[in-house]
Amino acid sequence: MSAHKPLHVIIAGGGIGGLALANGLRKAGVSVAVYERDRHRTDRLQGFRIHISPQGSRSLHELLPEQMYRAFVANSGKGATKFGFVTEQMRELLNLDADVIETGPRDEIDRNYGISRITLRQILLADLGAVVRYDKTVTGYRESPDGRVEVHFADGGTATGDVLVGADGGTSRVRAQRLPDARRVETGIVTVVGKFGLTDESRHRIAPKFLESPLSVMPPTSCGMFIAPHEFDRPDSRFGGIGGNDDAAASSPGALLDNTQPYVFWAYAAKRADYPTDVALESLRPRQLHEMVNAMTARWAPQLRELIGGTDTETVTLISIRTSTPVSAWETTRVTLLGDAIHSMTPFRGIGANVALRDARLLCEKLVAADRGARPLLAAIHDYEAQMIDYGFKAVRDSATAANQAVSDSRAGRTIGRMVFRVAEAVPSLKRKMFSDFGSE
Ligand SMILES: Cc1cc2nc3c(=O)[nH]c(=O)nc-3n(C[C@H](O)[C@H](O)[C@H](O)COP(=O)(O)OP(=O)(O)OC[C@H]3O[C@@H](n4cnc5c(N)ncnc54)[C@H](O)[C@@H]3O)c2cc1C
Repeated sequence: MSAHKPLHVIIAGGGIGGLALANGLRKAGVSVAVYERDRHRTDRLQGFRIHISPQGSRSLHELLPEQMYRAFVANSGKGATKFGFVTEQMRELLNLDADVIETGPRDEIDRNYGISRITLRQILLADLGAVVRYDKTVTGYRESPDGRVEVHFADGGTATGDVLVGADGGTSRVRAQRLPDARRVETGIVTVVGKFGLTDESRHRIAPKFLESPLSVMPPTSCGMFIAPHEFDRPDSRFGGIGGNDDAAASSPGALLDNTQPYVFWAYAAKRADYPTDVALESLRPRQLHEMVNAMTARWAPQLRELIGGTDTETVTLISIRTSTPVSAWETTRVTLLGDAIHSMTPFRGIGANVALRDARLLCEKLVAADRGARPLLAAIHDYEAQMIDYGFKAVRDSATAANQAVSDSRAGRTIGRMVFRVAEAVPSLKRKMFSDFGSE
């Protein structure tokens, strides 16, 4: 008779990575509970789109119930399979079409998608029911000699399991205790983001290019802008309320959290010191941030000015960009980490959530093997950590490089960059070679 005992997995944090892992474990019949600090399922509505790469899509396909993966595909926006680069005068530098960034035969699973974060969250939560416990802030844990992990909550309660997965994001409490030397630091880069709401009338006011596909704007120096349309078909009635509005949207200011309105998202990035103000940027109101970006882009092409100026001020928000510092390998225990909790990165390559999904898929596979008795638990967690540290921190480095390039002061570097793009645009085979799998992690 085998001494093997099924696992109970505790996940701290119900964000993209934690919920994806919970779906996968549940699908495989492994006992799992997610403890999330938010009070209600709709507390953390974030009204912006997110890019899901072929790797992220594949992970979702593995982890989600089939019907929810269908809901993901059905509710994704249009135009995510292309990408363009333009100057701040709207001169075209490079256009990457689907046949460049999605090389080789691709099925629906192996594609790029853009989806509203609110919708993705609805999908990730749809099948979890009581697996997710809200209003449970994890404050720490204790590993007991009998091999169990006791998790502590701010309300004084505890929960016990065989494994604790810290999926509690960039400010992870689990990481603070598990790896006290692991740090998350400011990059000195700040982005101001906004949404230009699309209506039958407003869509004619902006350049058609903004409605086609995501775009990167490359001025000659110091700053950059990312633009992406978020347009989708009406929510599909086969998937219940998915793709619609959660109740909290009704009380949201402006169009910030309206999950049913199409929009064009933009994110202006510059060094903190380059913003023309003496006060802390965080103290500024949306109107002041909006005015500042308008002023900083005053010499840009009229199409870009229209997009920025015509944006609903209530949707304008500031995001200070952080990254994590490298962590050397650690001794494996029953407490592990995934996603931003271990390798938080800048959003400049749009891959953080995709790497969190990759973690979830890999860790799920390893924990299922341990649950079935096919691999000892600590060896299974170690297998996961060895791979995750490698690809996770490579993604951190890549995204930091992209962030620094976006705000680089080097005129020469930018000029060369623009030239390379123009040459690649003129030589399709070179373009294919340089940019295949663009946007993947
Ligand atoms: C502007 C911007 C744009 C981005 N765009 C993209 C993109 O297009 N594509 C992409 O791949 N990535 C993108 N990212 C990165 C992506 O959002 C993150 O990498 C991703 O959300 C990480 O998922 P996660 O599950 O690790 O953490 P999170 O999604 O942050 O989830 C952490 C969860 O833990 C909970 N929590 C925190 N502390 C506790 C606690 N003590 N106890 C219990 N629960 C707790 C939180 O409430 C939250 O629900 C972007 C990021 C930004 C800032």
